[in-house]
Amino acid sequence: MQYIDKPIYCLSCGGKLSEKPDENNKIRRYCPACGWTYYANPIPAAACVVLGDNHELFLIKRRNEPKPGTWALPSGYVEIDETSAECAVHELEEETGLIGEAEEFLGYFFQSSSIYQRVITFGFLMKIIGGNLKPGDDALDAQYFPINKLPEIPFISHNKFITIIKKKFDL
Ligand SMILES: [Zn+2]
Repeated sequence: MQYIDKPIYCLSCGGKLSEKPDENNKIRRYCPACGWTYYANPIPAAACVVLGDNHELFLIKRRNEPKPGTWALPSGYVEIDETSAECAVHELEEETGLIGEAEEFLGYFFQSSSIYQRVITFGFLMKIIGGNLKPGDDALDAQYFPINKLPEIPFISHNKFITIIKKKFDL
């Protein structure tokens, strides 16, 4: 799948888009029929760092694009009606069956995306407060790994959150 670089039709009324410069002379696609303007923004996502009793790192094997079949932090895109921390909580439960709360914000990183062109991922250290481990619809598998013997994780932002955690706990 290729990300949408330049949409052709209006998302609001379906009319054909035109181009015009905005007040900063940046060319924007807009709809002459209804006035809707297309802005290309990074898509917000949240990623969960879950540690075991001996600082093992919890990873899921991804079922879906991007990068199906690889291991990664539980993560997903922020819905319009939730905060990034709420997104981390709901993605964790959806993908693993574990119920957690966002204990600490670890930072954010931008990364290019094969689907959304550019994604901004917010990282959270999660505290598990309940639930039962059971890989959900988005995950093929889920397990803890020794933090210094991790499988390859294809997302730069996830690796950066792991680096932050290793530094924080001196692992
Ligand atoms: Zn329109």
